[in-house]
Amino acid sequence: MTFLKRSPWILHYDASSCNGCDIEVLACLTPLYDVERFGIINTGNPKHADILLITGGINSQNRPVVRNLYEQMPEPKVVIAVGVCAATGGIFRECYNIVGGIDKVIPVDVYVPGCAARPEQIIDGVVKALAILEEKREKMTGEARHAAEAGEST
Ligand code: SF4
Repeated sequence: MTFLKRSPWILHYDASSCNGCDIEVLACLTPLYDVERFGIINTGNPKHADILLITGGINSQNRPVVRNLYEQMPEPKVVIAVGVCAATGGIFRECYNIVGGIDKVIPVDVYVPGCAARPEQIIDGVVKALAILEEKREKMTGEARHAAEAGEST
């Protein structure tokens, strides 16, 4: 697994899911799956988050919310779309108010398949996201990288 200089913080946002994927995300935090063994911390503040983990698709109401959350996160940051709804709109994609998957609004780094996505798949996606996060951090130079390592917003 990729070595990280500090614990990654995850912000979980339910865009417009049926809550099936959200329950599986919560299962990852239980002692059975114990995602915290990777040093991961669940946060409610986008300004502290390195990873944005989203379930459900984009609709006309949450489109600005998702954009706003993403823009508040400091660089480097990664986005995980969990479940087929987050990837494409899934079973809701024909609904009148569904725009599509998360990548209609913000860039997505990791797609976790499934309906619902299983905890093992979600953890696998998080581990992939950690590697991408570290790659992005390595590519940063100068003041931006220093600020990122210090945990400051750029
Ligand atoms: S992928 Fe399936 S379980 Fe997950 S939010 Fe969509 S319909 Fe629900």
